[in-house]
Amino acid sequence: MTTRGNLFIVSAPSGAGKSSLIAALLADKPADMQVSVSHTTRQPRPGEVDGQHYHFVSVEQFKQLIAEQAFFEWAEVFGNYYGTSRTVIEQTLAQGIDVFLDIDWQGAQQIKQQMPEAIGVFILPPSRDELQRRLTGRGQDSDEVIAGRMAKAVSEMSHYHEYDFIIVNDDFAQAQADLLAIIRSQRLTQASQTITHSDMLKGLLAE
Ligand code: 5GP
Repeated sequence: MTTRGNLFIVSAPSGAGKSSLIAALLADKPADMQVSVSHTTRQPRPGEVDGQHYHFVSVEQFKQLIAEQAFFEWAEVFGNYYGTSRTVIEQTLAQGIDVFLDIDWQGAQQIKQQMPEAIGVFILPPSRDELQRRLTGRGQDSDEVIAGRMAKAVSEMSHYHEYDFIIVNDDFAQAQADLLAIIRSQRLTQASQTITHSDMLKGLLAE
């Protein structure tokens, strides 16, 4: 059986629950799904592990990787550089493993230009009030900080229509089921099934 994995681009504003949804999807370490680990120039947050959450690099190292054309896409997001390694994605897809890119709208546009068959999924919060609640966190941040987060979220959300699928994360279990349904449906397209079941089809259609 030969196959090729699908490439999923998952974008969302901060507070929509994207990281939790991806983490839940991969919690049982499914053999046929993998999340791409990006390079970034931002500082690690407490608990973040180099090579697991991100490859943390300096601005010089990042620019060197750009020069070497190591990135499938890269972008400056809120003052830091982020990029997706090209070879890891290609090798993983070639092994029949679905790859998930947790990237912003700028990266999504670059991927779609190079690989139109990549599947864009955008996750939205159910309302502005709920987003505000989620971004307010534990009440430790100033109104100004929260207003800044809201403005960034609204700017990211304005790109929702550039994606193939939209998930509204009101109920987490429902959002999880929706994401799984999208993944499953992509494995069942005629193009995917023709590759996955090429031998079976030869047998079925033999004269
Ligand atoms: P954070 O710093 O909070 O982990 O991520 C900030 C934003 O950068 C998020 O919207 C995230 O999806 C995006 N991001 C993370 N990695 C990449 C990447 O490799 N490329 C692009 N274009 N955006 C990324």
